[in-house]
Amino acid sequence: MLRWNLDHLIKEKDFDKGVKYLESQISKLKSYKKNLKPSMSEKTFKEIVELSEHLDEKSDIIGSFLSLKQSENAKEKHLKIWEAKLNKLGIKATDELLFLGRWFDGLEVPGLTRLDDKNAKRLFKTIPNLEVSFTKSRDLAKHSLSEKEEKLAIRKDSTGISIVGELYDLITNDFKFKFRNKTFDSVELLKKYIYSASASDREKAYKSLFEPYENNIEKLHSIYTAISTNWINMAELRRYDSPIQVRNISNDVPDKVVQTVIDTSVKNANIFHEYFKLKAKIIGLKKLRRYDIYAPVKKINKKYSFDESKKLVLDTYKEFHLPFFEKANKIFEMGHVDSHPRKNKRTGAFALLASPNLTPYIMLNHDDTYRDVETMAHELGHGIHDLYTKGNYPSVAHPGLTLAETASTLGENILFDKLLESANKSERISMLSDKIGGAYATIIRQIFFVKFEQEIYSKVKDGLTHEQVSEIYFKTLKEQFGNSLTISEEFKYEWAYIPHLFRSPFYTYSYAFGELLSMSLYAKYKKEGKSFIPKIEKILAAGGSQDSVKLLKSIGVDITKQSFWQGGFDTIRDRISELKELTK
Ligand SMILES: [Zn+2]
Repeated sequence: MLRWNLDHLIKEKDFDKGVKYLESQISKLKSYKKNLKPSMSEKTFKEIVELSEHLDEKSDIIGSFLSLKQSENAKEKHLKIWEAKLNKLGIKATDELLFLGRWFDGLEVPGLTRLDDKNAKRLFKTIPNLEVSFTKSRDLAKHSLSEKEEKLAIRKDSTGISIVGELYDLITNDFKFKFRNKTFDSVELLKKYIYSASASDREKAYKSLFEPYENNIEKLHSIYTAISTNWINMAELRRYDSPIQVRNISNDVPDKVVQTVIDTSVKNANIFHEYFKLKAKIIGLKKLRRYDIYAPVKKINKKYSFDESKKLVLDTYKEFHLPFFEKANKIFEMGHVDSHPRKNKRTGAFALLASPNLTPYIMLNHDDTYRDVETMAHELGHGIHDLYTKGNYPSVAHPGLTLAETASTLGENILFDKLLESANKSERISMLSDKIGGAYATIIRQIFFVKFEQEIYSKVKDGLTHEQVSEIYFKTLKEQFGNSLTISEEFKYEWAYIPHLFRSPFYTYSYAFGELLSMSLYAKYKKEGKSFIPKIEKILAAGGSQDSVKLLKSIGVDITKQSFWQGGFDTIRDRISELKELTK
């Protein structure tokens, strides 16, 4: 059992000292305010930026320390005190240093002359690693309102739309789900029946899931109408071209690229129809029902001890590319892995980079299943990516949405193909079916949520009844499944059950985007072989410092073209053909 060594971040006894140091750095940076003039020298500009980056890095390290401690054991009492101290520090930093970001962004700051475009360009050029990020931030600031309006908006939101969003949680958290002779007060408890091996359990579980949503549809519809209309109004006031553009700009992806991903996915929805037909055959049904898409296929009973998994994953990376192996191995050697489940430890898995100058940390909850091996490969992929970003300024080390899953998904895919080779027939059927089912859930399902949102947002201002909203949703379901399975009426109300639609409009394409980009890069690697690896390394090393469209173009990948994204779907189609062969 491995436990991580957090001393490499900060020693517990030095926590307060660390906070004091950050406070002194905030004051130091604040004292530079008088130096902010459009005509300032490049040297002074660099000095200020480097101090700000240093402050960022040190506070990230101490913040990471706290969050890693919390994931070890959230119940430890003194963590609450540390958390309060860091929150207080965060507020101080925002209050005292807000002028800095605003000034770089070209916004009005009392007492300072506005930084004009020409001088901004001159200054930003002196730090090439940050130039893209500074320029993007300036572009984004063009969508802000005047200080007075922003203040008004914040106050109005805090008693308005954010309460409307809270109402959604309050109403749905109260739902009770009647299943057979039991009553569950949380969806989580009901969910296991959605994945049940019994067909009637699955049907009953879904019926029970949607029942309270249907009973409360008028309330939920009012909330959704308010949220979507508010989003549209704000997008207009902030001078965005479209409601989805608000999300695209914050994700740093051009509208055209997002639309290409949506269109290519919609076009490829039908390759999954074949899969649903195969799945019916595998689980012994004549025709699949919507209830059955997550029905379990025979389980893989093989167990993988932690050491076996580690060897398997490291060997996979070694066969792929030696530096990948060395980086993954370094994370183990440094003692930065917490390996097994424990009482009070957080569930799930993650990789965390505190600073591009430090080795990342990996949290796992290894329980000897096949899924745990995949997870290890995935999180170590993130860790490898993190180690490639060394040399970037801390604020741009983390890759953005587009590239964040590049190494993790790549690692998972190489491991998958390696394990598939050595698996027997029934294992292969199960592995392939799960993998393709997973791709459906991350790509197609998420894209159709956005398609639904696009239609709603284009019509809501002219008025939509809850019946109309549910019909529009049902129509997108029919479009996504075709005749490959039967969908019963209650799925109409599914939209009201998807929290993302209420909490973060247009968010769900992000899942599809990352997954598909990585799959498409993997497809390219399979085609071009080892010569493609240095290109992947170039992408990884850039972290989040470059414009992703241009960066990808520099390695011959054009994400504005459907043909690139099609590569990812071709990989899935090949896997479906293989599954078809196996189930003949
Ligand atoms: Zn990931």
